Amino acid sequence: MSGTGISTRKRTMDAAADEAEATATPARATRSKTEEGPNYRSMTPAVFFKFGFDRFHATIPKVWEDHSGECHATLHYLAPGTNESLTIVGSTGEGHGHAEVTAVTEFIISVCGGDKDKYKMYQRLGRGNALRMQCEGKPVCVRCAAFLGLLGIQRFNAHTQKIPRTMGSTEWSPIQPVRDFMRSYLDVTSDQITNFVRYRP
Ligand SMILES: [Zn+2]
Repeated sequence: MSGTGISTRKRTMDAAADEAEATATPARATRSKTEEGPNYRSMTPAVFFKFGFDRFHATIPKVWEDHSGECHATLHYLAPGTNESLTIVGSTGEGHGHAEVTAVTEFIISVCGGDKDKYKMYQRLGRGNALRMQCEGKPVCVRCAAFLGLLGIQRFNAHTQKIPRTMGSTEWSPIQPVRDFMRSYLDVTSDQITNFVRYRP
């Protein structure tokens, strides 16, 4: 069990949220109405990370088991044209670290060819919430939750939860093509992505 320290973590993150609001609002006022999303470039690494974590809407359990062994995560998406449900299953230890990252990497590279416009097309399918992550063997760790939130991926259903802590000993390190995709998709600098990957939540 590793549920201690949640309240401390929560206070830290609330402080970061206040900071995000304070810094993001003036910048947003100057952006054109056709643009969507926040101005990530104005965010500090802590605010950027916290924004992603909050954006992945999932329940935080009071206690959880730290499964450092293998687990699976399933990315659900829709087929263009038919809206047929499709899935990609990721596992831990496939060269991308956590199972969630493995599944999203496969989607970004193999399905979207690293193209942010193609990715956004998939996002708009269904009711605009087409990309969803299912991870039921364990909660989604803080790094994966921030990663998924920044990429506009939501939980599959209430059985997928998240925790404000790191988990296991597996390295968390998306491959370079995924980092390049994030930089383009979020319109941020390479340094911001590097800081995000290295950030110690
Ligand atoms: Zn994770």
